[in-house]
Amino acid sequence: MSPDVLLPTAPIVRPDKDRFLNEENPFEAMMSRFDQAADLLDLEPGIYKVLRHPEKQIITSIPVMLDNGDVEVFKGIRVLYNTSRGPAKGGIRFDMNVTLDEVTALAAWMTWKCAVVNIPFGGAKGGVVCDPLKMSVGELERLTRRYTASIIQTLGPDSDVPAPDVNTNERVMAWIMDTYSMHMRHTVTAVVTGKPIEMGGSQGRREATGRGCMIVTKQALAHLGMPVKGTTVAVQGFGNVGSVAAQLLAREGCKIVAISDRTGGVYNAKGIDVDAAIAHVAKHRTLEGFKAGDAITNEQLLVQEVDVLLPGALENVITTKNAAQIRAKVICEGANGPTTAAADSILDDKGIFVIPDILANAGGVTVSYFEWVQDRGGYFWTEKRVNESLTEIMEQSFDAVLSLAKQHKVNMRTAAYMLSISRVATVHRLRGIYA
Ligand code: GLU
Repeated sequence: MSPDVLLPTAPIVRPDKDRFLNEENPFEAMMSRFDQAADLLDLEPGIYKVLRHPEKQIITSIPVMLDNGDVEVFKGIRVLYNTSRGPAKGGIRFDMNVTLDEVTALAAWMTWKCAVVNIPFGGAKGGVVCDPLKMSVGELERLTRRYTASIIQTLGPDSDVPAPDVNTNERVMAWIMDTYSMHMRHTVTAVVTGKPIEMGGSQGRREATGRGCMIVTKQALAHLGMPVKGTTVAVQGFGNVGSVAAQLLAREGCKIVAISDRTGGVYNAKGIDVDAAIAHVAKHRTLEGFKAGDAITNEQLLVQEVDVLLPGALENVITTKNAAQIRAKVICEGANGPTTAAADSILDDKGIFVIPDILANAGGVTVSYFEWVQDRGGYFWTEKRVNESLTEIMEQSFDAVLSLAKQHKVNMRTAAYMLSISRVATVHRLRGIYA
C-alpha cells in the first residue's frame, strides 16, 4: 500500500487563512508563508495538519540564586517543531522579548532551514526570558545549568541538539554540555554545537552564518548581473552574523557603507573600515562611540540607497510601514524573520531580490551539522575543509531554490518554503502515522 493512502483526506481547515491579526506575530508570519507554499504544492490535508503543529512545547520555571542572595524565577521554553528528518536542531536565545509564539515560529523556521540545505535534522528552538546584559557571569551560568537540567528529558545527540542564538555564545554551550554530561555520567560533546573548539567545537562555526550570507549574496549578485566589486552594502546588527558578513563581503570587494547595532548606526559613502568596527565592539561591547561617518538610526539604515541590505539582528524590522521606502536591490536575510509576511508583496512589487532567512542564514546550522558529525566520529576537520563543504552546500541550495523559483514563477522565499516543505512531507509520507 502506498504510504499516502495512510493519510486522512478530510478537507483542509485553515483557521487563519483570511485573517491577518497581527503583522508582527512571527508564528503568523511563518504560517502564512507555509500556507502559500502548501497551496502551490497541493499538500494533502493530513500532512498539512501535521506540519501546522509543533511536536512538543516545554515551558519551565527556572529558579536562580542571584549574587545578592535573592531568588529570581525565570521562564524557559524549548519547542521541538518537527523531528521527522532527524534530531531536533536549533539555538537557545536569552532575551526579554522571548514568547512561546516566537520560539515556536523560530523552531518551525529551523525545520524548513535544515530541509532547504538538506541536512538530516528537524527543527527546534529555545529561549529564556531574561536580560543577560544585566546579569553577572555567575548568574548566567546558574540560569543556563538549571534551564538545561529542566529540559534534559528532550536533550541528546540523537534527539535535541541546541546551539547559540541571540545573546548566547560558546561559553553558554560549554555550560550546557557540561551539565548534560554530568547527568549522563560521561562526556557527551555532540549534545550541543557552537562549542569552544578546545572541547569539540568546529573550526569555522563562529563565522559560518556570516560566511553563508556572503556566499549567497555573491550568487544573487551574479544572478542579477551585478559586480561584487564596489557593491554597496548596509548591515543591520553587528553581532556574530552581521559583523562577520560585513567583514567577509568587504574582503570580496564590496563597500560596506552603513552598519548599526541596538545603540544606533553609522553611514559613510566612502566605506567603513569593518575591522576597526569589530575591534571597537571587542573593546566596548557595542558600536556606541565608533565615529566613522554620519550617525544614523536603525530605521534610517534600512532605507539607505544601497545595492545590498543585510538585516542581521532580530525579527520584524521590514514591515508594511517601511517596505515601500527600501531602496536596496538585494536583501539578504541574515536574521530569522526580519521581514513580516505582509511586507513580502511590497518588496516583490518593487522588484527587490530577497534571499530568504531559511536559506540566507543556513550557514550556521550547516556547520553545526559538521560539528555534530565530527563529534560523533571523533575526527576533526581543517577550517579549509569546513569552509569548502559549507560553500558547496550553500551554492547548491541557492541554485536549487532559484531554479524552483523560475519553474513556478514565484519569489525566492516561496520557492525555499516549497523545497523544504516538500522534503519534510516526503519523509512523513514514507514514515506514515504511528498508531
Ligand atoms: N541559531 C542559529 C540559527 O538560527 C543556529 C542554529 C544551530 O546551529 O542549531 O540558525
